[in-house]
Amino acid sequence: MAKRDFYEILGVAKNASEDEIKKAYRKLAMKYHPDRNPDSKTAEEKFKEGKEAYEMLSDPQKREAYDRYGHAGVDPNMGGGGGGGGAGFADAFGDIFGDIFGGGRGRSSGPQVYRGADLRYNLEITLEQAANGFDTTIRVPSYDGCDTCHGSGAKPGTSPVTCTTCGGHGQVRMQQGLFSIQQTCPKCHGTGKMITDPCNPCNGTGRIKRNKTLEVKIPAGIDNGMRIRSSGNGEPGINGGPPGDLYVEIHIKPHQVFQREGDDLHCEIPISFVKAALGGDIEVPTLSGKASFTIPEGTQSGKTFRLRSKGVKGVRSGYAGDLFCHVVIETPVKLTEKQKDLLRSFEQLTTEGGSKHSPQSKSWMEKVKKFFE
Ligand SMILES: [Zn+2]
Ligand SMILES: [Zn+2]
Repeated sequence: MAKRDFYEILGVAKNASEDEIKKAYRKLAMKYHPDRNPDSKTAEEKFKEGKEAYEMLSDPQKREAYDRYGHAGVDPNMGGGGGGGGAGFADAFGDIFGDIFGGGRGRSSGPQVYRGADLRYNLEITLEQAANGFDTTIRVPSYDGCDTCHGSGAKPGTSPVTCTTCGGHGQVRMQQGLFSIQQTCPKCHGTGKMITDPCNPCNGTGRIKRNKTLEVKIPAGIDNGMRIRSSGNGEPGINGGPPGDLYVEIHIKPHQVFQREGDDLHCEIPISFVKAALGGDIEVPTLSGKASFTIPEGTQSGKTFRLRSKGVKGVRSGYAGDLFCHVVIETPVKLTEKQKDLLRSFEQLTTEGGSKHSPQSKSWMEKVKKFFE
């Protein structure tokens, strides 16, 4: 989906002053704040959109990058090949955007800031759960600041030292042919600091991995492969960058009775050849209880009956699909002598009656005859 223009989101002119941007954002935030709009997805999106726009335009460096390069200048997800999020963009474009993106050389205290990577969580659910929607909880990795070193990553009593490779800038320049390329410092990974004596519990990372429980609302009608985004629940950002998002990807387990195709359901209904011949009512299961329909006399195997609106109610359309019942005529097995005798008598009577009783065999025989002529 194309991102909207940040100025347009806030409703300000391209040359708006910092003050005007702040005022516009405040107005928008008041209007769409989640506390004032509980349960409104649109308001939530608008609020987030506005927040992002404000974060970009209120930072002079980011605003300049945005003015010059558009979203590509400020979005860490763009240009990184998509999917992974993370540090892709700044790495891929190192020198071009290095200065304006994170700071680097310009600010001695400004090492690279990266958005955390997005995470994917595969959630396996049943067809019934997908059709009706449900609430569930999932366990996902999360990180807390390390209590022992208070997030510094250095053993208590020691402190991180300035990286000797980059002099604390988090960036190094390398000569490659004609170009001088600025890259994230390989020694300190852009933090500008080095830990000589790493803290034990967190291994020098400054954070401890824990699991947290998240509540996830699965909307009714969700289909296989769809993803639900849980904003900010991905991996933490680096150097104070924003966290990534968590994507819950839906996998629907195969169902014993139904196959789903979009919002339609398909199932096979075995019926006896007697029932197929005589016709009658048959009862079929649906996701919301039983339904019945009448099959006419002389129904052939493979015939499909469509039960309108007995499929799955689409998560986007809001309309229910249909249920297609495919009739399969079952050949009776393990017959008793008496049953066999009855069938033999039946067969004899049928043969005497001629080909009118077997339209399919008749047309098939005609085709075969033509084939051999
Ligand atoms: Zn620690
Ligand atoms: Zn370094």
